[in-house]
Amino acid sequence: MNIMGRKEIQRKYDVSEKGIARRKKHAFSKKGALVQRRYDASKKRKMDKRKAYLLLVLNSPEKIKARSLARKLPIKPCSVKGCKKVGHKHHEDYLKPLDVIYFCNRHHQQIHHE
Ligand SMILES: [Zn+2]
Ligand SMILES: [Zn+2]
Repeated sequence: MNIMGRKEIQRKYDVSEKGIARRKKHAFSKKGALVQRRYDASKKRKMDKRKAYLLLVLNSPEKIKARSLARKLPIKPCSVKGCKKVGHKHHEDYLKPLDVIYFCNRHHQQIHHE
């Protein structure tokens, strides 16, 4: 009695209301939502990074300026006595962009968390 092949049935099902409803349901299903959420999260992370940068430019333009000016300065070792690690430029005052102190990662973090 059934002369339609499975493919034909599947195709008919795909365009039937029931099939469309099922696929819609999948989009809102847990798995579908998870995929969507992951996508949103990665998009959000990108946006947040961009937003953070824009905020930095807006709120502390002198910081950006100081950083770019300090880029010309040579790299020196950490200024903490006895520490021989490569230093990062630390600004005490962003309005004096060329006044930098060199700190390695660890000591730099210490300075900022004091
Ligand atoms: Zn610093
Ligand atoms: Zn150090």
